[in-house]
Amino acid sequence: MEQAAAEPRRKQATHTPWPEDTPKDKACTVIGGSGFLGQHMVEQLLARGYSVNVFDVRQSFDNAQVKFFLGDLCNRQDLYPALQGVSTVFHCASPPPSSNNKELFYRVNYLGTKNIIDTCREAGVQKLILTSSASVIFEGVDIKNGTEDLPYATKPIDYYTETKILQEQVVLGANDPKRNFLTVAIRPHGIFGPRDPQLVPILIEAARKGKMKFIIGNGQNLVDFTFVENVVHGHILAAERLSQDTALGGQAFHITNDEPIPFWAFLSRILTGLHYEAPKYNIPYWLAYFLALLLSLLVAIISPVVQLQPTFTPMRVALAGTFHYYSCERAKKAIGYRPLVTLDDAVKRTVQSFRHLQKTG
Ligand code: NAD
Repeated sequence: MEQAAAEPRRKQATHTPWPEDTPKDKACTVIGGSGFLGQHMVEQLLARGYSVNVFDVRQSFDNAQVKFFLGDLCNRQDLYPALQGVSTVFHCASPPPSSNNKELFYRVNYLGTKNIIDTCREAGVQKLILTSSASVIFEGVDIKNGTEDLPYATKPIDYYTETKILQEQVVLGANDPKRNFLTVAIRPHGIFGPRDPQLVPILIEAARKGKMKFIIGNGQNLVDFTFVENVVHGHILAAERLSQDTALGGQAFHITNDEPIPFWAFLSRILTGLHYEAPKYNIPYWLAYFLALLLSLLVAIISPVVQLQPTFTPMRVALAGTFHYYSCERAKKAIGYRPLVTLDDAVKRTVQSFRHLQKTG
């Protein structure tokens, strides 16, 4: 994907033109629409009667109702045609957190987002809905029912999150009702669901390699995992309510399943649902953290000679062993958000969709 971000395909896909009478306020562009969240976003927007443009460096699906624009969001010339004639832009593009490429994160998440804001203004877009992340306030220590009033992390868990903070700040700072340009940030946490390329496939891969035997800590730490369709619902509600109440502009909203669950219980449900064993041995949190710290020190010491990228890092330990769940009261009150799919149904549907990864024999 990094390569794709650097060298976008410029060819425009064939499409069925929109009907002449498409109402402008239901015309939108999904930047990052070929991604996991983006594709679900496109499906729900179409189902709600929107006309949808997708802007991405790649085209991951075909749909005659969608107009695809291929390019790099950092490039104004690529982006402008995709934003012309739409009232709302959903920005859910990002390099994957695992890419570990600082320059790419800064360029796409921060500079690219500034380019999106400028191009939105130029094209006369009225609403920009950013997919941020609840991690912008997480520093590796417990957060229980955290609200949007908590300050941004001064020590973000990684560089990706650092650029998500910069991105959110620049988007919310661009809110300008006087110039008819409104912005909000949606902060989901732990998105999962059918077609997720990260959480379930990585978990199953680890289980197949025999790496899912240990629970870090006592296994009681509650975390939010949010079904992708609920995340999409939060975005669309925010966009629609923003038209009715411009005072919502400039705000961030946590969107979760509103059912925090012990981190290890969630992973175990996915694993056992696909017939793998759940982790059953406990390792004290402090010990896991110390070992990860030691490993990262060793990696730093040998880095002039050998470059290694360990997956067992102090921040990964913190993510797996601390409480981090968030209140979505603000979204409930301000935009009428309620999760559409319960966690129970969401897990069942997700497991069902990944049955091709099920353990055999
Ligand atoms: P994804 O990797 O599946 O999708 C991201 C899309 O962005 C891809 O299709 C990619 O091609 C596109 N993209 C990347 N760089 C681009 C560029 N320079 N120009 C144009 N398109 C570009 O990611 P996702 O899981 O769907 O995440 C969507 C958003 O949600 C991201 O902003 C992410 O930070 C945020 N988020 C995700 C999670 C999660 O658990 N997945 C949690 C919180 C927040």
